[in-house]
Amino acid sequence: MATKKILLSEKDIPLAWYNIVADMENKPLPPLHPATKKPLNPSDLEQIFPKAIIEQEMSAERWIEIPDEVRELYKIWRPTPLVRASGLEKALDTPAHIYFKNEGISPVGSHKLNSAIPQVFYNKQQGITHLTTETGAGQWGTALAFACNLFGITLEVFMVKVSYNQKPYRRVMMQTWNADVIASPSNTTDAGKSILNRDPNNSGSLGIAISEAIEKAVKTPNTKYSLGSVLNHVALHQTVIGLEAEKQLEIAGEFPDIVIGCFGGGSNFSGIGFPFLRHNLVNGKKIRIIAAEPESCPKLTRGKFEYDFGDTVGMTPLLPMYTLGHDFQPADIHAGGLRYHGAGTIVSQLRKDNLIEVEDIPQLETFEAGRLFARTEGTIPAPESAHAIASAIREAKKAKEEGIAKTILFNLSGHGLIDMSAYEQFLGGEMKNYQLTDDEINKTVKSLENLIP
Ligand SMILES: *Cc1c(COP(=O)(O)O)cnc(C)c1O
Repeated sequence: MATKKILLSEKDIPLAWYNIVADMENKPLPPLHPATKKPLNPSDLEQIFPKAIIEQEMSAERWIEIPDEVRELYKIWRPTPLVRASGLEKALDTPAHIYFKNEGISPVGSHKLNSAIPQVFYNKQQGITHLTTETGAGQWGTALAFACNLFGITLEVFMVKVSYNQKPYRRVMMQTWNADVIASPSNTTDAGKSILNRDPNNSGSLGIAISEAIEKAVKTPNTKYSLGSVLNHVALHQTVIGLEAEKQLEIAGEFPDIVIGCFGGGSNFSGIGFPFLRHNLVNGKKIRIIAAEPESCPKLTRGKFEYDFGDTVGMTPLLPMYTLGHDFQPADIHAGGLRYHGAGTIVSQLRKDNLIEVEDIPQLETFEAGRLFARTEGTIPAPESAHAIASAIREAKKAKEEGIAKTILFNLSGHGLIDMSAYEQFLGGEMKNYQLTDDEINKTVKSLENLIP
């Protein structure tokens, strides 16, 4: 009888995170100071991040030890199972072997806790007592709320307004874990006020919420800011996903041909992808590593590689990234965690060097994929994760046409039990696609032309 799921024991939780920068021939370009536009001095970041995080952000060390305290807390839900999607394979009648890493079993329902715990740990270590952050769909906010609660740090979360209204349950989760939740744009910051003055009905974006959270952190004593994606240290923490999956596939006697992650700012994609990409960079393997993003927010497939701000107002360092421009306002799609204008610096360099593949997927196709997955494997996936499922299904269909038993691994970044209103719209036939014209994309990308002298 074939094995359905491969489980590791707690002692198999990785001892170190993998930093892919060490193995990149072309290193990522440096971040620039937003005012001087000169390479950023690490100390410039000390206003918003603790020193240990800044060190990781800039590090080129290949392996970075996971503190014992963090591994201890990872035990709450790690190692996560690797599951053979045999039901999905059967429904697709494909010769492909499809596996998924189930990050949806974490207490908060997504992979985000993998980085929330170490981030709060390093802040606590430095004596910080209060954190601020932003959240889109609410996934990062819930993860950080739980982590802050574990370490006794208070938390203020700026939640994108459209999600605050569409997804009240995540707000209640955050409040249950003792966080303060504020709909963004809000009138508690200058950044929020100026946007509301211009556009009182603004439904918010991650970029705006980041501006608000940073402003609050800078203006409040003993307070730092925490980001759930995009930055190098977040990608680093998420590599526990791929490192575990690597061991699990080995136990299954498999080596992947294709590894897929959905793409918001890049953290879960990096987490599942980098430990496998390492085999390409170091051992000459040719695993295809695919980032699956929404058609309505296609920074990797249709954006431009430029220095851009991480937020809307322009408070963050300038990062070299594939971006749609910091003014880009994505459609109100249900995969709220993928509504971000830019891609992380490391992923952007890898994309530029053609070391990863990218694809964009229409909203309806993702929900069809998510529903098929739910009907065959049981778990109802997060709309974000359904992008990875849709991409895996495309590849499994190709494998069938070619008659090749490819091994496909994708990351199930989260479950969708708090996204039932999205499934309700889908089942009711009310959902639509949002394809962007070139003009729509050029409009916001054009704003980048004069950012750097
Ligand atoms: C936040 C989130 C994403 C997107 O963020 P990345 O940093 O790109 O991983 C994807 N899936 C789920 C379930 C999320 O919560």
